[in-house]
Amino acid sequence: MTARLKPVASDRETFDVRNPATGESVGTFPVHTAADIAERLAAARPAQKWWDDLGFSGRKKRMQRWVRWLARDCDELYEIGFRETGKPKADVQLELLAGLEDIRWAAAHAKGVLGEKRVAPGLAMMNFDARVSYEPLGVIGIITPWNAPVYTAFCGIAYALASGNAVIMKPSELAAATGVYAVESFYKANPDAPEGLVSWITGFGETGSALCRSGVDKLGFTGSVPTGRRVMAACAENLTPVLLELGGKDATIIDDDADLDAAASSIVWGSMWNAGQACVGVERVYVVEKVRDEFLRKVEERARQVSVGIDELSDIGPMTVPNQIEIIRRHVTDALDRGATALVGGLDSIQPPYVHPIVLVDVPEESSAVQEETFGPVVVINTVPDIDEAVRRANATSFGLGSSVFSGKRGAEIAARLRAGGTTINSVLTFVGMPSLPFGGVGDSGFGRFHGDDGLREFTRAKATTRKRFNMGEDMQQFPRTKEQFDVVYKVVKLRYGRRFR
Ligand code: NAD
Repeated sequence: MTARLKPVASDRETFDVRNPATGESVGTFPVHTAADIAERLAAARPAQKWWDDLGFSGRKKRMQRWVRWLARDCDELYEIGFRETGKPKADVQLELLAGLEDIRWAAAHAKGVLGEKRVAPGLAMMNFDARVSYEPLGVIGIITPWNAPVYTAFCGIAYALASGNAVIMKPSELAAATGVYAVESFYKANPDAPEGLVSWITGFGETGSALCRSGVDKLGFTGSVPTGRRVMAACAENLTPVLLELGGKDATIIDDDADLDAAASSIVWGSMWNAGQACVGVERVYVVEKVRDEFLRKVEERARQVSVGIDELSDIGPMTVPNQIEIIRRHVTDALDRGATALVGGLDSIQPPYVHPIVLVDVPEESSAVQEETFGPVVVINTVPDIDEAVRRANATSFGLGSSVFSGKRGAEIAARLRAGGTTINSVLTFVGMPSLPFGGVGDSGFGRFHGDDGLREFTRAKATTRKRFNMGEDMQQFPRTKEQFDVVYKVVKLRYGRRFR
């Protein structure tokens, strides 16, 4: 697992990643320092030049090789993902699929999105040829969380590489093996790639902080809001630009003409998959009063069938982080103390390292379970008199990552009113799995985008190039200025802009 890096020195501080259900060690990793990162950065500079010189087609070929290698070799990744975070293999599979799609899409579309394009020069400069292209920034630092370690690693690396950059990635200390696998797999597929083009560093917050201060050309961070603030402050020291993909408190609206069976099963899956440890998990539901009872019946029936355990094919596995269990306990306690009802489960569903499904109804909006990210298999369902109130409440937290709406006739109209980076109509979370769509948040959910054209441009700088094609009679960029020239431009201004124009 350390193919492209020096072996861990015996005097080096290390840490173990452990399976959250069994305590078994999944791997031992070094705690990298600022000096290690400086070494990685020095190696990344010439490697990035090599990568850039390959052009779009050379890069595409190598990224496609990477996809093929991963598709053939993924058994090891299923095993690592399952053992490291305890998540069922079906959840590893979802992440892998989304990651492969990201690499494939970014490689296939980089040229079309970032390649040089001719644009209109405008009236005043009509004798010029005008072009825009997008150049790589250089070396991108990627920091990833533990909850979706496969997807966030592949996604971050894919968009940075496809746009011509080198990458230094720091996976979460709770999911380091997955991050290391992601980097090493690139070299397994591309043994000709130079050392330093993609590299990994491991460690805790201090290592991440050193990466922010290292002089990388942009930092793509996925993680919690408090860490996002620290990342941005650290990056500000060198004016390093940042992309922040942070937490969420996604809401779903159920209209009175919704398909309630589809809505109920999507809500249960959307809130419980990955044991609810998902930035885009469904955490709040606003159901219109008219269909409330029937909807609750359907949700209850489905939520009671969710299986919990460390089996590879359980519906949900253990919670990866003990601290998160305490947050869940606090939110559920607060909701019940404020008068909410537990439709499914309750405080006794919390049996570390597992949390069994909890469905809370009629939770006061000021409760922590409504306002803060719970990040567990817990969903709040509140009843609203109408869609206006549903939209008002859905938009009333500081987050704005994803959202969804189930409606027969008004899906698009309601979706347009939701303050979120993405909205799914009559399903949940689908925008995350579509690499052609931008993915990111508003408000406390962050800014910047992975995925889509925006995701490719995120790691580039726009470059404008103009070329004079012929001399124009009245050249405003030459001395001396003449009365004739002034009069001609004076008339042109009136004619061109003084009337209705398109
Ligand atoms: P976290 O913020 O605790 O840690 C994320 C990463 O930041 C880890 O690699 C960690 O070591 C590193 N880090 C910690 N302190 C740092 C510092 N001072 N400077 C730089 N790096 C530092 O988040 P987490 O608990 O690993 O992940 C869960 C959070 O991530 C949730 O809030 C979830 O919603 C969010 N998330 C968001 C998205 C998204 O795309 N918007 C995707 C997945 C997870």
